[in-house]
Amino acid sequence: MKISEILKKGKPTLSFEFFPARTEKAAESLNKTIDDLVELKPDFVSVTFGAGGSTKDGSYELVKKLKKEKEQEVVAYLAAFALKKDEITAVLNNYKDLGIENILALRGDPPKDVDVTQVPAESFKYASELAAFIRQNYSFCLGVAGYPEGHIDAPSIEKDIEYLKYKVDQGADFIIAQFFYDNVYFLNFIERCQKNGIKIPVLPGIMPVYSIKMMEMLAGNCGAKIPLKLQKGISKLPEGDTKALVDFGIEYAMGQCEELLKEGVRGLHFYTMDKSESAVGIVKGLRSKSFLTVK
Ligand SMILES: Cc1cc2nc3c(=O)[nH]c(=O)nc-3n(C[C@H](O)[C@H](O)[C@H](O)COP(=O)(O)OP(=O)(O)OC[C@H]3O[C@@H](n4cnc5c(N)ncnc54)[C@H](O)[C@@H]3O)c2cc1C
Repeated sequence: MKISEILKKGKPTLSFEFFPARTEKAAESLNKTIDDLVELKPDFVSVTFGAGGSTKDGSYELVKKLKKEKEQEVVAYLAAFALKKDEITAVLNNYKDLGIENILALRGDPPKDVDVTQVPAESFKYASELAAFIRQNYSFCLGVAGYPEGHIDAPSIEKDIEYLKYKVDQGADFIIAQFFYDNVYFLNFIERCQKNGIKIPVLPGIMPVYSIKMMEMLAGNCGAKIPLKLQKGISKLPEGDTKALVDFGIEYAMGQCEELLKEGVRGLHFYTMDKSESAVGIVKGLRSKSFLTVK
C-alpha cells in the first residue's frame, strides 16, 4: 500500500527505520530487532541506502526480507549521490519488481573516502532531481527528507525551505523529518512548511538516546541541537550506567512523542539504529496512555 493511502486513514502512523547489517553479529541482532518491532504492528518500516550505492545489495536484501518474509509495508530509500542514471534505474526497477510501492528520494552525503572529482558528471546534484526523475518514470509513492533545524549545508533556513518546496513540487507525497531533541524546531518547521505552501504530510523523526557518544556524534553530523533539558537530565544519571541512560532516553522521547501527538502530528517515525529496546519501551508506554492505537 502507498504511504499516501495509509496517511489518509487519519490515525497517526507508526514507523521504524532500519539499516542493513554490516557483520554477521549485527545481522543476528537486527533479526531480533525486526521481530520485536514487527510485533508492534507498525504502519510501515523503512530501509536506508548507503550513499554511492555502498549498501545497494544489503538494502535490497533487507527490503526483500521485510516485504516478503515479514509482510511489512516498506519505504525503500534511495540516495542518488555519485550514481549514474542506469544504476538508479536498476535499483528502482528491482524495487518495483519486488512490489515496493514507496521510495524516499535522497541526495546522500559523499562518503569520507570518496574523491568528489570522480563523481560521474551525469549524477544528480540534489534530491529534487532524483524526485523529478522518479515521478517522470515510475508510479511509486514518493517521500523526501526535511530538516526542522535546517540542513547543515543550507545557506539559510529560509533558502532551505525554498529548496524543500521545490523538491516537494517535483511530485513528493510525504516528508520524513530529520530527528530533533526539542519539539519547538519541528513545530516551527511545520509552520514554515505551511507558510511556504508545502501541504503534504510531514512525519517527525524520533531518535531516542542510545548512548551519549552516539547522540553527540549523530547530532553533530546533522546539526541537531542538544537542549539544556536533555543535557541536564543526562548529567543527573549515575556515570556509566547504560541502563539508566537508555531508560532516561525512553522517558525523554516519550515526552517528545506525547507533545507531538497532542499537537496533531501525522505519525511518529523512529530512527531505531537497529535496536529495539527503546522503540518498544516508547511505543508500549504511549499505547498504555492511549496516545497511539494499534493499527
Ligand atoms: C529521513 C532521512 C533519511 C535519510 N536516509 C539516508 C540514507 O538512507 N542514506 C544516506 O546516504 N543519507 C540519508 N539521509 C541523509 C541525507 O542524505 C543527507 O542529509 C544529505 O546531506 C541531504 O539529502 P537530501 O535528500 O535532503 O538533499 P537535498 O534535498 O538535495 O538537499 C541537500 C542540500 O542542498 C540544498 N539545496 C537543495 N536544492 C538546492 C539548489 N537547487 N541549489 C542550492 N542548494 C540546494 C539544501 O538546502 C540542502 O542544504 C537521510 C536523511 C533523512 C532526513
